[in-house]
Amino acid sequence: MKVILLGAPGSGKGTQAALISKGLNIPHISTGDIFRDNIKRGTELGLKIKAIIDAGDLCPDDLTIEIVKNRLSEPDCKNGYLLDGFPRNTYQAVALDGFAAPDRVIELAIPLEKLEHRLTGRRGCLKCKSSFHIDFIGDRKDCPHCGGELYVREDDNPTSVKERLNVYREQTAPLIEYYDSQGKLFVIDADRPIERVFDGIRKVLK
Ligand code: ADP
Ligand code: ZN
Repeated sequence: MKVILLGAPGSGKGTQAALISKGLNIPHISTGDIFRDNIKRGTELGLKIKAIIDAGDLCPDDLTIEIVKNRLSEPDCKNGYLLDGFPRNTYQAVALDGFAAPDRVIELAIPLEKLEHRLTGRRGCLKCKSSFHIDFIGDRKDCPHCGGELYVREDDNPTSVKERLNVYREQTAPLIEYYDSQGKLFVIDADRPIERVFDGIRKVLK
């Protein structure tokens, strides 16, 4: 099954994607993770996009599309994919329809005004990749799950968060209508605990 997870920054796409990928045994492909990995390794691509990502803007479309197209051609994608963070605008969605159109699109819906707080208080674990919110874990520096080191994403600063939410509103949110008109859209209330959201997704993907 080919599945797209659509949702604003902070809506919980990464968390749910990890659960779905495990449950359905399809590869979780996150363009954000691919970009961040390139930045960390200091590749040519990484150097090119670091400033864009830190500012909360979108990387160039054709570059991003090329990366996704290549990734989807790998053998582990032959039974489907779970895309997280792609497509992010209509141009990318039209391109994807040309080489690997999705079967279902899941929108993680949440009031946008809740997201600024979610994102600016977010902490990630370097080791197990879990993310947490300071509302729940306080200012501790070690991961409650595995003891790994916690970090703050470069683009989770207030200025970049505002920009990412603007980009979502203007460029990504129109995809909800795009996929709804194709009859592929399923809306899940993402303003609930992780397990409840996942239950909702599981029903849609049965
Ligand atoms: P978020 O938590 O904002 O959903 P992601 O991890 O999906 O973050 O993406 C982080 C950043 O990577 C984006 O703000 C953007 O700069 C870049 N990026 C990710 N996916 C795309 C894409 N499909 N097109 C262009 N840029 C992208
Ligand atoms: Zn951890």
